[in-house]
Amino acid sequence: MATLAPPADVMAPFEPIVESQPARRKAPEGPIKVVHAFWLAGMSCDGCSISTTGATNPSVEDLLTGSISGLPKVILHHPVLAVENGEEFIHPFQLAAEGKLDAPYVCVYEGSIADERIAAETGGYFSAMGDHAIESGSRPFPTATRLQQMSAGAAAVIAIGTCATWGGIPAAMGNVTGAMSVMDFLGSDYRSALGLPVINIPGCAPVGDNFTETVAAILLFLQGMGPLPEFDELGRPAWLFSETVHRGCTRAGYYEEGVFTSEFGGKECLVEVGCWGPVVNCNIVSRGAQNHMGGCMRAGGPCIGCTMPGFPDKFSPFYKPAPGSFVSSNASRTYGAGIRRLRALSNHALSREVRWDALNAAETPSGWGDIEKPNAFDKTVHFFYEKLQFRGSRRPGREENRYWPTDPPDRMIGMTVPRDIATTGGAAGAQHGEDGPPAPPERGSGSGGA
Ligand code: SF4
Repeated sequence: MATLAPPADVMAPFEPIVESQPARRKAPEGPIKVVHAFWLAGMSCDGCSISTTGATNPSVEDLLTGSISGLPKVILHHPVLAVENGEEFIHPFQLAAEGKLDAPYVCVYEGSIADERIAAETGGYFSAMGDHAIESGSRPFPTATRLQQMSAGAAAVIAIGTCATWGGIPAAMGNVTGAMSVMDFLGSDYRSALGLPVINIPGCAPVGDNFTETVAAILLFLQGMGPLPEFDELGRPAWLFSETVHRGCTRAGYYEEGVFTSEFGGKECLVEVGCWGPVVNCNIVSRGAQNHMGGCMRAGGPCIGCTMPGFPDKFSPFYKPAPGSFVSSNASRTYGAGIRRLRALSNHALSREVRWDALNAAETPSGWGDIEKPNAFDKTVHFFYEKLQFRGSRRPGREENRYWPTDPPDRMIGMTVPRDIATTGGAAGAQHGEDGPPAPPERGSGSGGA
């Protein structure tokens, strides 16, 4: 049973209504050649359509041409991308609703679902696809009603984007449309022909690849070639939404070292300009917005939680830091200051060739590498650091009784390796003297060991 119960402040003049779920139909079994995908647009900005057309892995073209081995060809019925229009476009939707389509299908819903009773009060409508006959002519046919008719026979109903998954911006407090998510609209008892509740791919706009990858996984399952994809407690593909955006963020290193930017677009961590990434499940930074590129934090914008059911009300005002970040950012600022200095010390040491250290010269013997010589403090720290680093393991260097791995080529005769320099006379031993290069030690003499 589906309960249509919009927020009380919006729906005060209306009684909640309870609607019966249409009887479930059985999904076809066995390998299939084609699958229809019906794209229904509710109260949306079409951003989900745009991000999906930008998906690359797999791409929409891969799905439509059936070029992925083992997957059936997808026939897409999309109100913006379709070549057909009018009756010709709507007809397959009607066939599916009546159970007369000769192939399995999935419903994809973009945008939130408005309470059409509110619009009907004044003779209008919020979102519709096609029309239907009434006594005085015809009326636009609400998209939500079309979804309800088609949902029972669909192999899966996929809500794409935050408006469809959780209500999104149209369902924010103060909205006048009674907007809600697809899963709230279909109700807790809803199951598709495959026995699935609504599948949710949130994001505003969502990562296009998240959608196409999930569709591909479902099609593999339909073909009997893969397991049923795993979904989390919110109906999201578990493998895509189990981590917080913070864990995959390219700026997480700055957070850890307590370095924060105070302006949008700064290169450091954005938590102090309102980033909610540490508590938001999303993969946009690790996956990239399109073609593994872009994504909110990569582009310098803080995470405002658009993939979460609490968006937008629980994340506003967007221009203020989250209160919880005060504790964590100040903690990382405190210990990060010390860690940063220690890392700078190591970074300085690691930026010098081993040979430069062995030469112990005031300047590096090359055009680049103007890296300051380690001072007494650096040397002392690294003496103990290396003790720890190589404790219980073998220090890199030449083996005892062995100088070159094979007989040295002529051009290498007389050259020494840095550690040999250190143990056999320092800088003087490393450079070719006026009398020519020094003779190599006899093999097996053991003088080359480090
Ligand atoms: Fe985490 Fe946001 Fe900072 Fe990235 S920018 S490290 S997601 S707090």
